[in-house]
Parts: sequence; C-alpha cells; structure tokens
Amino acid sequence: MKPPRFDYVAAASGDEALAALAHDGAKVLAGGQSLVPLLNMRLARPSLLVDINRIPDLDRVEVNASVRIGALARQADVLASPAAAAVPVLAAALRHVGHPATRSRGTIGGSLAHADPAAELPAVLLALDAGVVARSRTGERIIGAGDLVRGPFTTSLRPDELLTAVVLPRQDSRPYGFAELSRRQGDFALAGAITLLHPARIVLFGVGGAPERAFEAERALDEGATPAEVADMATRNLSPVDDVHADSAYRRRVAEVLVRRAVEQAGVHG
Ligand code: FAD
Repeated sequence: MKPPRFDYVAAASGDEALAALAHDGAKVLAGGQSLVPLLNMRLARPSLLVDINRIPDLDRVEVNASVRIGALARQADVLASPAAAAVPVLAAALRHVGHPATRSRGTIGGSLAHADPAAELPAVLLALDAGVVARSRTGERIIGAGDLVRGPFTTSLRPDELLTAVVLPRQDSRPYGFAELSRRQGDFALAGAITLLHPARIVLFGVGGAPERAFEAERALDEGATPAEVADMATRNLSPVDDVHADSAYRRRVAEVLVRRAVEQAGVHG
C-alpha cells in the first residue's frame, strides 16, 4: 500500500522542527524504520511529516561523567562509539535491535519514541534510571525512564515535543546481564530480561505493554537470593500478553529462564 497524503518539511534546525511540530497532526520522521511501514499500511496518518535527519548535532554522542546521546544517533553508530564501553548493557541491547541494516538508519530517539513493547532500549533506560530530554517551543524538560513509556506505542511525549537526547549514567564495570529470546536473530523479542547489580535492577520487556521492573526480586537479589529464587520471584505473578507469537504461559516460563540467565551473567551463582 501507499501512504495517505501528507505535507513534508525537512527541518534544517531544531527550532524549525519545533515550529513545524506545533501544527496539529505533525509527526517526526527520524530513521523511518518503524514509521514508514506504518505509513505504508496507513496505520499512521500524519498531516505533516517533520524530517529531522538534517538537523546538525542531533546525533552527537558525548561520554563524560555521564553519557549523553543525541536522539538522531543511529543505533549502529552508538554501538561503535565510546558509549558502548561506558554503558555495556546498552551495547548488549543494541546488538539485539533489528539487523545491521535497520540499525544503520534507526535512531536511539526513534526507538524510544516508538515504544514498541518488545523494544530493548526503553528497558535499558529503565534499568539504568536514565532519562530523555524533550524540547518544545515552550521549553525543555527531562522525562525519567519510568515516566516515559505509558503503554504499547504510547509515551508521555507531547505531540509538539521533540525527543532531543538520552542521558544515561556511566555503567563502566557495574555487573550486568542481558538475555532475550526472539524467533530469529533480529526479530522483536518474545521476552527479555536485564539485570544490573549494586544496586540490583531487574527489568522485563516484551511481556507486557511496557518494560517493567521486578522490585521484590531486586530486593531479594540485593539480599543474596540465588538466581533461581530471584527468577521465580520476578515472574511468579507475571501475566504476560498472549499474541500470535507466544501464549502467556510460554512467555512467563521464558521470562523466568531469561531472568535467571541475566542474573547469572551478572556473576551471581548458587
Ligand atoms: P521512525 O521510524 O522514524 O519513527 C518512529 C516513531 O518515533 C514515530 O512515531 C516518530 O514520529 C517518532 N520519533 C522518532 N524520532 C523522534 C524524536 N526524536 N522525537 C520525537 N518522536 C520521534 N526495534 C527494536 O527495538 N528491537 C528490534 O528487535 C527491532 N527489530 C526490527 C526489525 C526490522 C526488520 C525493522 C524494520 C525494525 C526493527 N526495529 C526493532 C525497529 C527499529 O529499531 C526502529 O529504528 C525504531 O523502532 C524506530 O527508530 P527510527 O529512527 O527508525 O524512527
């Protein structure tokens, strides 16, 4: 199919993009790896496409006391940048996002704004207590990862806001684990788990409408529970989604195995 009619503007600056986004029905076009298929299937019907690919410096990656990644940074470029060593759990996740071809165009900001329930990057931000910078003509704000994704393909970004950057703490040698199951390499995850230690963080993704933390299991992990105990605690009350790819019972069982694997990857045994 072909997309419905829309107007198009290639913004040359952030201000130009924000002015365009103030129009009703305007939508950001970044890497197009999610939006263009939706346009072609007529599941997205913007009146105005605001192409941000020409905005200078929106793709910068800065690694200092914290890590700041511009929204337009391509997933592949972040994987090849110093951010990968500063935040190894981000690199582990990025290697599972799509394929090299999609990662060469897909952006960090697009993945977060698209908020696919099976997307890895929103889960990484939640695990790291990271945040995103959102800008509009009325100002700029930081949205914490826990407040960003509201549900499937739904975020707290306003229609007139541009996600301009992601701000992450350095992880460096903080132990972590990342495990996901997908039908084929590059497919969206059927389920996934991220673990960090000191303090413990356990995030599940692909099991519900948004990534979710397993608070009780985190406390148990901090108190020395075994990987099997942590995995059971993190998933025993889980009621994952049923869909064409997997039913709820299978997803819950997979999630339990993945949490255990991620905890063991972080160096916890027993
Ligand atoms: P676009 O497609 O350009 O936009 C996506 C949405 O975000 C749109 O609603 C757009 O308006 C909005 N948006 C984009 N940038 C901004 C911004 N800066 N501010 C505000 N709103 C913005 N993703 C995964 O997470 N895991 C996978 O395993 C995975 N597998 C894939 C496999 C294939 C074959 C394909 C084609 C895609 C896959 N993807 C996967 C999706 C891919 O990672 C997309 O790149 C990503 O979801 C969207 O990034 P984008 O830059 O292409 O955004």
